Amino acid sequence: MDHDVLRTVPSALSGTATGVGYSADVVTLLSLAQYVRNLGYRAYASMNDTASSIPYAVKAGLGEYGRHGLLIAPGFGPRLRIGKVFTDLPLAHDRPIRFGVEEFCQICRRCSDACPPTAIATGEPSDEVHNRSNVRGVRKWTTDAEKCFSFWVSQVTDCSICIRVCPYNRDYPGWLNRLRYRFMGSFLRRPMLWLDVLLGGGERKAPSWWWRRATGS
Ligand code: SF4
Ligand code: SF4
Repeated sequence: MDHDVLRTVPSALSGTATGVGYSADVVTLLSLAQYVRNLGYRAYASMNDTASSIPYAVKAGLGEYGRHGLLIAPGFGPRLRIGKVFTDLPLAHDRPIRFGVEEFCQICRRCSDACPPTAIATGEPSDEVHNRSNVRGVRKWTTDAEKCFSFWVSQVTDCSICIRVCPYNRDYPGWLNRLRYRFMGSFLRRPMLWLDVLLGGGERKAPSWWWRRATGS
């Protein structure tokens, strides 16, 4: 999802980043599913329906799971919309990856501190659930999805503050981003967190800021 648009969350404008992400998702998934069907196999495209996408994405090695309950992918952070295709096409599969997200989340509380309805876990991963909207029997950081969604409804738009403030959600040039990810996944994670706060990472911008940039006015 677009980095600059997401700097304005929560706003009606920022919802467009989500909408565009899902629109691209639809085209990609339907094209891929049709391609697999043309090969003679079954293929069913799925976005947020049928099964939770994040556990599959973690298993597929696309990224790691963060405290805010979202996938954090190398190079994109949590700024993602995920889709999946169920198929009987024989495939070689990837494995889960680790690049230090869990360890970073252990020392970071930027998402849980910033979440208006305090829906994000502040403690250690556990198998406790908040309500029927949570998956049972998995030890992890679990977000109270009902608190989260109630907040969205009260705002009359979606939220994504947890994405905006996450130190993995920064858009630096390629080599700098790779270096930053490496440091965040190392013993330098505390200074990296300190630096992110110092540099104002994740501060909200007004939608008018985005419009001025987009139109050059
Ligand atoms: S989207 Fe907003 S309300 Fe929901 S968990 Fe993230 S910060 Fe909290
Ligand atoms: S804001 Fe911090 S604690 Fe939350 S997911 Fe991002 S890195 Fe982890």
